[in-house]
Amino acid sequence: MGGFPPRLIANLITKLITSLIKMIEPYILSLDQGTTSNRAILFNRAGCAVYTSQREFTQYYPADGWVEHDPQEIVESARLVCAEVIQYAQRNRLSVAALGITNQRETTVVWERSSGRAIHRAIVWQDRRTASVCDALVKQGISREVNTRTGLLVDSYFSATKIAWILDHVEGARDRAMRGELAFGTTDCYLLWCFTNGGVHATDATNASRTMLFNIHSGQWDDALLEYFQVPREVLPEVYDCAADYGMVSLPGANLPLCGIAGDQQAAAIGQACFHQGMIKSTYGTGCFMLMHTGEQAVASKNRLLTTVAWQLAGERRYALEGSIFNAGSAVQWLRDGLGLLASPADSERMAQQSAQQNAQAGEANGGIFMVPAFTGLGAPHWDAHARGGIFGLTRDTTAADFARAALEAVCYQTADLLQAMRDDADYPAAMRVDGGMARNDWLMQFLADITQLSIERPSVTETTALGAAFLAGLQCGVYADLDDISDCYALQQRFTPKMKPSSRDALIVQWRRAVARVKSDG
Ligand code: ADP
Repeated sequence: MGGFPPRLIANLITKLITSLIKMIEPYILSLDQGTTSNRAILFNRAGCAVYTSQREFTQYYPADGWVEHDPQEIVESARLVCAEVIQYAQRNRLSVAALGITNQRETTVVWERSSGRAIHRAIVWQDRRTASVCDALVKQGISREVNTRTGLLVDSYFSATKIAWILDHVEGARDRAMRGELAFGTTDCYLLWCFTNGGVHATDATNASRTMLFNIHSGQWDDALLEYFQVPREVLPEVYDCAADYGMVSLPGANLPLCGIAGDQQAAAIGQACFHQGMIKSTYGTGCFMLMHTGEQAVASKNRLLTTVAWQLAGERRYALEGSIFNAGSAVQWLRDGLGLLASPADSERMAQQSAQQNAQAGEANGGIFMVPAFTGLGAPHWDAHARGGIFGLTRDTTAADFARAALEAVCYQTADLLQAMRDDADYPAAMRVDGGMARNDWLMQFLADITQLSIERPSVTETTALGAAFLAGLQCGVYADLDDISDCYALQQRFTPKMKPSSRDALIVQWRRAVARVKSDG
């Protein structure tokens, strides 16, 4: 044996096992526990979705600004969608190696350890009932401490004040929590608890990083934060890596190892294989969520962007800067539902093209029309909650097509503003990978490349969130050897490169900034 060092033998065995696993073509079940629906998707090793099952669940709006879900309904609907996919796999003799979960972040469930029953409906991330609590805490001067430890801004969006609200509004809950009778978790954690019949109380570091109770530098729950937000340590789950052995879960028709968990935006970044510093994933749905990978560095933002855990693997954390645009696809929805200017969102592409052709014939860049869709205020980097939308540059020959074009362009200008804020904080070389409903719009993608002067990459798999959870589970159960192996699965569908002259782009940005200044509440 003298000639074969043990490491070489170990490497050979690992390679052999990996090749064997590849030969039997393992599939991975991914559960996307979203804000309005549960989706279970079966992925093959190459990252292609082979079967999907989806179910919506009830949204409760008990008061102005309040949003709730029934945790029991979420679990039942999640079981059903998983069961359908498992049945499909069994019918087709496909072997499912593991389960991964991605979920709506921050949404808060508190349940009884003895029965697994939630003591209140889940308080959803959008819920603003604790806004005044947060205002009062900000006045007490805790903002800087909270930001330093969590990377977040004190806001009702995150779980901390939602947990305290439940403990203070359900009779006897706080005492029961102190006695260790209650458990808290985001929806991934509650699903894990239910699927393991109360056997495991754990979450992953990305979900933990959105509670406002987790110190993103130490990777631990933080006593000072628990004190600020009055959350007893007894309710908190253990925090695992994103790829970990979470436990064997029992689903109708199969028992599967749950091997991966990540919050939805982080999962999308993993699904887009944004594994290197400076890579950005941008999801264009109703709103837009942008995450820039900053590597080992938890960059503190000067522009009120959030610093968050991108993932934790083998005990090591990577970080991201996160920013959002409140209104992206919603501007297109408004053109359709509010103004009746288009029949479907997809029409916006044809109309924008038409507007561009007409203006080009008239020798104009964009007809001078700028829409600022600040329906609910302006986010990063402007941060003006009182701003309201505006459309500028109207003339007698402005058409519906110009409106559609201005709405699409606005998404790109807002992305450029957010990108500028990210670059102010951490000036890395960047590439941008896109997903979400709006990413299907070619005209929009080209204008995005022109305005950001970046190469915009659209993958062939659009279910990037679910794919990210599948990648994590696959990493843990040996379907993928490492992140490079996952990167190899990234399949580009189309790349859009900047075609506009930088001087033309700069001129448009100047006009956009002027339009933004006009909608600001101090403007
Ligand atoms: P969400 O997950 O937020 O519901 P989706 O990713 O499903 O959003 O995307 C839906 C949004 O994208 C809607 O606001 C819709 O107006 C917009 N959208 C969908 N298709 C297109 C398109 N081809 N062009 C422009 N906008 C689109």
